[in-house]
Amino acid sequence: MHVEVRDLNKHFGTFHAVKNVSFEIEKGHLIGLLGPSGGGKTSILRMLAGLENPDSGQISFHGQVVNDLPPQERGIGFVFQNYALFKHMTVFDNIAFGLKVKKASKAQIKDRVTELVELTGLKGFESRYPHQLSGGQRQRVAFARALAPEPQLLLLDEPFAAIDAKIRQELRSWLRELIERVGITSIFVTHDQDEAIEVADEIMIINQGRVEQKGTPWDIYKEPKTPFVASFIGESTVISSAAELKGFEAAANKNATRALIRPEYIEIGSEHDFSVLSATETGVVRHLHFRGSEWLVEVEVKGHKLITYRSLEKETLQPGQEVRVLVHRAYLFNDDHSWIEENR
Ligand code: ATP
Repeated sequence: MHVEVRDLNKHFGTFHAVKNVSFEIEKGHLIGLLGPSGGGKTSILRMLAGLENPDSGQISFHGQVVNDLPPQERGIGFVFQNYALFKHMTVFDNIAFGLKVKKASKAQIKDRVTELVELTGLKGFESRYPHQLSGGQRQRVAFARALAPEPQLLLLDEPFAAIDAKIRQELRSWLRELIERVGITSIFVTHDQDEAIEVADEIMIINQGRVEQKGTPWDIYKEPKTPFVASFIGESTVISSAAELKGFEAAANKNATRALIRPEYIEIGSEHDFSVLSATETGVVRHLHFRGSEWLVEVEVKGHKLITYRSLEKETLQPGQEVRVLVHRAYLFNDDHSWIEENR
């Protein structure tokens, strides 16, 4: 289902929680709403679902305005973090619930539930009760239950927030495959950037009630439009004055008040690692964090702490050690937050 939202606004009392939010979602796409707590993600979802009325703005599904439609007539499926299953019902009955409400026949229910237990990998669990399942299995039942009545739009509000890191990782790829197979338009709320990057076709970064940026995970990583987006997606160091760094002197003329440097734009080494030593800065290693496949290195240059990675094979650095540092690239932002790329 094609979804279009135009100039959506929502106040809670005097608090302006959702500010002129507009976006479109193509049929079959999975959009991740990503942002800090309190930014308005859940409020946007609740308005799409019809659980909350917008103060102004328009929500259209398939080109039809649905503002006045009650939730049950919007063709939406939900999976929420705390959207508990019916405890006294088996897996089969939980999945069948929406179909019974729609007064489907016994045979239709049986066929559809069978299809869904297969799709969600729950075959053999049909007669179990929720307390006999793991957290991950329960969330899969929640997905099957949401999909059973064949909704046109699936709303997922932090569906994996309460699940252990390892299982959560598995569920992410499982969800990606599930959505692709079903081909349903979906919106996924999360405040976990890795989850959004891995699962979503497109990400919308929501901050203080506004859409800061919308794009594919790759576009947002490569071309962040604001310092907020740049610091929210991927690791980076923000420094106030890029002009101090070698190669970025021109930043002073462009009124760039902030510079953002990704770890991969920084190279560290000893003197013999660099052919043009004059382009490098002197830095001091401050901290080393072991990250499994690499080291995360904090190196201080002219009073700024820069973050970079270093592979395990390279000789071990020591805190306090002096190194040469080359900064290849930075994102420069001026006061009105427009984005300027700087390549050296
Ligand atoms: P989280 O990640 O914590 O769920 P969120 O981005 O989903 O955050 P919302 O839940 O949409 O944010 O909330 C946005 C703001 O609106 C918050 O400041 C919240 O306190 C406020 N808010 C949400 N619902 C209500 C309500 N029913 N009454 C009053 N204020 C509300």
